[in-house]
Amino acid sequence: HAARRPLTPQSPWPPESPPETPFDWPLFWTFLRPQLLALSAAVVLALGAALLNVRIPVLLGQLVDVVARCARGHVPAYLREVRRPVLRLLAVYCLQGLLTFGYIALLARVGERVAGNMRKALFSALLRQEVAFFDATRTGQLVARLTADIQEFKSSFKLAISQGLRSGTQTVGCFVSLYLLSPKLTGLLLVALPALVGAGAFIGAFLRSLSRQAQEQVAKATVVADEALGNVRTVRAFAMEEQQAGLFRAEVDRAGHLSERLGLGIAAFQGLSNLALNGIVLGTIFVGGSLMAGDQLSPGDLMSFLVASQTVQRSLASISILMGQVVRGLSSGARVFELLRLEPPVPLQGGASIPAHSLRGRICFNHISFSYPTRPGYPVLQDFSLTLPPCQTVAIVGPSGGGKSTVAALLERFYEPTAGTITLDGHDIASLDPSWLRGQVIGFISQEPVLFGTTIMENIRFGKPGASDAEVYEAARLANADGFIRSFPQGYDTVVGERGTALSGGQKQRIAIARALLKDPAVLILDEATSALDAQAERAVQAALDRAATGRTVLLIAHRLSTIRGANLIAVLAHGRVAEAGTHEELLRRGGLYAELIRRQTKEGS
Ligand code: ADP
Repeated sequence: HAARRPLTPQSPWPPESPPETPFDWPLFWTFLRPQLLALSAAVVLALGAALLNVRIPVLLGQLVDVVARCARGHVPAYLREVRRPVLRLLAVYCLQGLLTFGYIALLARVGERVAGNMRKALFSALLRQEVAFFDATRTGQLVARLTADIQEFKSSFKLAISQGLRSGTQTVGCFVSLYLLSPKLTGLLLVALPALVGAGAFIGAFLRSLSRQAQEQVAKATVVADEALGNVRTVRAFAMEEQQAGLFRAEVDRAGHLSERLGLGIAAFQGLSNLALNGIVLGTIFVGGSLMAGDQLSPGDLMSFLVASQTVQRSLASISILMGQVVRGLSSGARVFELLRLEPPVPLQGGASIPAHSLRGRICFNHISFSYPTRPGYPVLQDFSLTLPPCQTVAIVGPSGGGKSTVAALLERFYEPTAGTITLDGHDIASLDPSWLRGQVIGFISQEPVLFGTTIMENIRFGKPGASDAEVYEAARLANADGFIRSFPQGYDTVVGERGTALSGGQKQRIAIARALLKDPAVLILDEATSALDAQAERAVQAALDRAATGRTVLLIAHRLSTIRGANLIAVLAHGRVAEAGTHEELLRRGGLYAELIRRQTKEGS
């Protein structure tokens, strides 16, 4: 059931107004099957508990009859008479409690395991999606699938089994005992109950939609707060505090208004349902009393009837709540399964690789055309051709937004070219194993290095899982990072990342370089690696980069022209293709685009 879903421009992902995808029962079954034994046991226990609940009102009635009979007799006689029904009832209560414990515990186990396995499978499925998928999907949405949707699905699933089974059985069973007790009273109940439950369900649906609106409004207020607090420097710099506070106030007021209306609705609902339930009790006793007067009903029967009808009411109410929950759970589940089924066009693994001893690192871009899947009508590269000779540094320059980083992304196979091929030592990279290409051949150092929330040691080891400590130290030395890392009190065990020690841009960059060097890549991509740094940090990083570049094919993407003078070849990217190429001196002499760029930057610099 590996349905492929191409990310075509005609069907944006996610679709703007998501059509409800049908729930994938076969896929759900694959998660459920391993838990089948526990699930069946839970179902049997839940049925048992429900049947006992049907039995309890009848036993209670018998007890009341004994009580009523002995009401004016002697205590010893009463005690003798009452023992049997009391013990029987007590036994049923205990058994019922035990069964309830059993099915809830089993169901919790089944639910957690199914949900856990779904989470793990979904996470792996997400991680193997292509980069274009992430361009088109917000991270928050994916995290919501992993957490909220699976949670919702699990709750509904558990509720459907426990409440659904139980309430259904109880409703049917209790109606049977009601009918056996008194067909007349049951007929009356049959008229009153559906009307009340129907009205309750209607009001309930209205309240739920109001509650959803209120929640959405609260979320809107949260977005405003999140944006303002997260970007407090910008807010401060523009003296926008009052304006932002005003925005937040408006959203909070709107949320408060909706929530108050919701509160009013809930209050009315509670009041009305209390009235209805008490009315039913009163009506039953009133009509039952007249039946008792006519000797058609014993006090115990009336008691049984009251309790059984309460059970029916409770069951029907929980079924009506369950309906809404199950609908929501199914659509949550459908969203999760839809992602689970999604197969990326390019798998993470599979394909040929070149043996290390014959790998030279010559890269050719042959007549590449490309536009991003999310912006199909907008060509970024058009007939772009460039050769990177082994062990040489080729720089790409050009205006910002010209497609320089895109060239690097294509080489990493984050995207597939619309036309043309990229070859590594003559092999089309489309035929090579992507994980080998990314994991062992290409080292990538970007403008904004990302460190994970763990130690420096592990962050560097990310480049080559399984590398020894000595290899990590060596890579760090090569990247000019060993010195400053050792100057930290915890050295290589310093925790960095969002919750760890704050590192300067230059330090982060050198750790990222060490990480890239650890795999000893034949090809190194440097995407504006120094452009976010100040002059001093830039020097330290530049020194590390120069050292890293020796003996490798380097694709240098540069914004600042000062960093590329030493490149063996400079290619100027304009209108999606290489407009001119040569060494710094050649290009200057030619007096074309490059000379113009240099002239402009020098002027800006001075
Ligand atoms: P450069 O590196 O030369 O500054 P880029 O390669 O980053 O240029 O971008 C080239 C063009 O592609 C720009 O117009 C940019 O807006 C667009 N672009 C870059 N990344 C994406 C993406 N992930 N999805 C859609 N368009 C993109």
